[in-house]
Amino acid sequence: MPIEEILEKECLQKDDIITLLSLQGKDMKLLFKKALDVKLARLDHYVHLRGLIELSNICRKSCLYCGVRSNNSKVERYTLSEDEAVECAKLAHELGYGSVAIQSGERNDREFIDKITRILQRIKQIDNGSLGITLSLGEQTEEVYRRWFEAGAHRYLLRIESSNEELYYKIHPHDERHDFHRRLDCIDALLNIGYQTGTGVMVGLPFHTLDILADDLLFFKEKEVAMVGMGPFIPHPDTPLNQYAGLIPSVEDRMNLTLKMIAILRLMMPEINMVAATANQTIDPMGREKAILAGANVIMPNLTPNQYREDYLIYPDKACVSDKPDECFSCLDIRMKAIGHEILYNAWGDSVAFTKQHKGEHPA
Ligand code: SAM
Ligand code: SF4
Repeated sequence: MPIEEILEKECLQKDDIITLLSLQGKDMKLLFKKALDVKLARLDHYVHLRGLIELSNICRKSCLYCGVRSNNSKVERYTLSEDEAVECAKLAHELGYGSVAIQSGERNDREFIDKITRILQRIKQIDNGSLGITLSLGEQTEEVYRRWFEAGAHRYLLRIESSNEELYYKIHPHDERHDFHRRLDCIDALLNIGYQTGTGVMVGLPFHTLDILADDLLFFKEKEVAMVGMGPFIPHPDTPLNQYAGLIPSVEDRMNLTLKMIAILRLMMPEINMVAATANQTIDPMGREKAILAGANVIMPNLTPNQYREDYLIYPDKACVSDKPDECFSCLDIRMKAIGHEILYNAWGDSVAFTKQHKGEHPA
């Protein structure tokens, strides 16, 4: 079937997705153009910001791809104080970012849970709760997720990393701390509680196939998530998965594969929020712009105090590690305008898909 016909389909089937994932050259560009048209028609040319606060690199897990995994003894561990985290949020507010995203290595001890609760309560006091809050703090019990929701978080990002159980256990240890079914249960718990729930995968992992990636996209659709974050896998030299670095696609192919995943998902789920992940920009200086032009609509400028950023290297050569927040601010604005987009300041930038789905259930 001609590509033009597949791109016009109401509902993409797995075979269609695999065909689209294998596009190259001008056919691939046609896919990106279609995804951009769909995004502009449904969500306009606005880009939403989430000021990223990398709260801590202390983690109880040892995911085989991640530079801050607990088994990596080369990492200098840090945790932002409560005051430092709240200061970052205040800066986000001053810069007009509208929302923050708090990300961290996974911890499930009482001290951590309480600290997050207090940080949330304090951020909610800034200008009468004007900042939206996304959390990305890994797997927690339903009770903890509920507690943080009640304290003011309303979005949660927990990537499934791969929806294929076999591949999941090739990129994670197979033990009680890294359990595929528990991860699925966590995503379900977040959805049940009423979070705008985000998930996602890394793209271009060793052992990835187009069949698996197509299933990932169908998984997001089946779960009806409100947000998705997908970025290229970047091998970290101090991680076990680095031994398979020779098996992964080239930088260019990983970038294009990521863009195709974003573009296809925009066709499948036209009104969700999709992040142009920092990993895109790390492997390609124009990666963030390319992701926006392929259908993404969210950017996460880094607000972590500069002295900690070198220690949150989940992958090497992370983009923007030395940028100061105000430099980042004007750089982003110019970059988005240059590609015909506009940053929407002082807005939460909620997922339109979620808002429509839950109309009447939650006060705004
Ligand atoms: N600890 C939380 C979790 O795992 O959900 C949040 C922080 S974790 C560092 C955020 C994301 O970084 C993960 O979901 C993973 O997809 C991504 N990541 C980790 N190592 C990576 C790598 N080597 N290449 C690309 N992305 C990576
Ligand atoms: Fe920890 Fe998240 Fe890295 Fe896994 S991906 S080791 S949970 S920080």
